[in-house]
Amino acid sequence: MRQQFLFSPTLRDMPQGADIPSHQLMLRAGLIRQTASGIYSYLPLGRRVLNHVEEIIREEMDKSGAQEILMPAVQPSELWEESGRLNDYGPELMRLNDRNERQFVLGPTHEEVITSLVRDELNSYKKLPVNLYQIQTKYRDERRPRFGVLRSREFIMKDAYSFNPDTESLARSYDAMYEAYSNIFRRCGLDFRAVKADAGAIGGKGGTHEFMVLSDVGEDTIAYSDASDYAANLEIADLPDTFTESAVPDEEVKSVHTPDVRSMDEAATYLSIPHDRLIKSVLFIVDEEPVLFICRGDHELNDIKITNALDAETVRPADEEEIRSLFGTEPGFIGPVGAFDKVNVMADYAVKGLSSGVCGANETDTHLLHVHPRRDMNIDQYGDFRFVKEGDPAPDGEGTIQFAKGIEVGHVFKLGTKYSEALGAFYLDENGSSRPLLMGCYGIGVSRTLAAVIEQHHDENGLIWPQSVAPFDLHLLVLNSKQEDQMDLGEKLYEILREQGYDVLFDDRKERAGVKFKDADLVGLPVRITCGKKAGDGIVEVKERRTGEMEEVHADNLADYLSSLF
Ligand code: ATP
Ligand code: MG
Ligand code: MG
Ligand code: MG
Repeated sequence: MRQQFLFSPTLRDMPQGADIPSHQLMLRAGLIRQTASGIYSYLPLGRRVLNHVEEIIREEMDKSGAQEILMPAVQPSELWEESGRLNDYGPELMRLNDRNERQFVLGPTHEEVITSLVRDELNSYKKLPVNLYQIQTKYRDERRPRFGVLRSREFIMKDAYSFNPDTESLARSYDAMYEAYSNIFRRCGLDFRAVKADAGAIGGKGGTHEFMVLSDVGEDTIAYSDASDYAANLEIADLPDTFTESAVPDEEVKSVHTPDVRSMDEAATYLSIPHDRLIKSVLFIVDEEPVLFICRGDHELNDIKITNALDAETVRPADEEEIRSLFGTEPGFIGPVGAFDKVNVMADYAVKGLSSGVCGANETDTHLLHVHPRRDMNIDQYGDFRFVKEGDPAPDGEGTIQFAKGIEVGHVFKLGTKYSEALGAFYLDENGSSRPLLMGCYGIGVSRTLAAVIEQHHDENGLIWPQSVAPFDLHLLVLNSKQEDQMDLGEKLYEILREQGYDVLFDDRKERAGVKFKDADLVGLPVRITCGKKAGDGIVEVKERRTGEMEEVHADNLADYLSSLF
């Protein structure tokens, strides 16, 4: 590709409203442009990287025995009524009507469509197992789209669905996907961990793992052992009793209206229970919604390791008036009122110094749940309350607990029969009995993976593409396009290198050398080849973007030299 014709508008200045490196660099290097909030166009460089990620995914999925299909993005609402998710999915589901007022949704995921697709076809054990996948645009009206394509409203997902006759077969499909995902993310150059995960809104029993790319901008927290394979999303981390405090016993869960209790010590005395059984509550107003955060009393808030940040724009402690109006009581209540497993959220703000010590009051712990804005969470999940400090012993008895932030790039899931039963997908087994198909679903955020790669591969000058996904292999520069010998060598190499099978971006623009070097660093192709002052002698300069190592190489030896780099 000749760079003079490449549609890749680069930005010299830091783009407004882009808070993390991948978002900034994708805008600056001309990979994407925003079309609407959480909705992006991919320009040629961005599209090329996506293509490479998709190629890797296709290769590994096909190798695992899965078959590619393509389902519609527009799905009839009836299917979602059948599964019960038309209501359950909530406001993330984008809905639309056709000209006859028939209702449709823009698919956030495809369990309904695929189950209805196979329900009349996969009707015998002889046809099983089958694993079908697609690479498709998904729509989720995220509460707060942000970080560019990391959390967007329109995004590209690879989703696969396996249909199995029995649990052994499902386990084999699941393991095959687990392995394929490990291969995919490794080939994309990512440092990742597969962690035990929460079943969440998809439902179903059985195994589920998330593939987390380790990164400070990640929205999830992983608890892992420094000495074994143990790794889990903190939401479900199966931590030992010493660190897992299930809800305070029932008789203590009753809350008491205690306007005169002003400290943890007074509360302990008043309630005649040990200090470390107390649970402290702190009311914040998060994006103008009241959120009660709760923490066990024997730890200072600051001790708790920071975990998930709530994706809020404005956060402030509630004032006394707000507490009175919300709870119909005076501020100052401290007591054993139940438990959330979202202490981490509170801890985050505590560490940021936002907890002023204002305490909310309530009448029953159910009441508390009503003021919590995380409607996507299941009330059952609140039963378990836990917090851990880095360096505490590990759950499997090996090493100590560590925390890391992770970006969820993939998710594998044993669904069971939830959708096959709801949508009537049954098969006849060997004995002629009718059984619901067992299902697994397996997702990869393709566009999110692109951003995750950038989070792990960049420096202050720009992108540093792993060879496997780089938009081009080589950046060929002519330092001064007015110099005939430089231009001639450039043209010659452009021809030869492409013949040798390299994807070459040829900077033949009439720009100053400084501009070309800066752009080359920003765009971050693995290897830069510069035809400069020594072009007359057939000598070029070869620079590796990642290491910065430079070497002068004669054009005749270039092929050999490059093959040692690729
Ligand atoms: P998250 O926890 O980040 O909201 P999720 O658990 O809702 O993601 P899944 O339903 O598991 O997502 O979808 C499969 C994959 O799709 C995710 O692992 C992620 O890589 C990707 N994905 C989900 N939501 C988005 C989004 N809004 N933008 C980009 N990619 C997304
Ligand atoms: Mg989500
Ligand atoms: Mg998730
Ligand atoms: Mg998920």
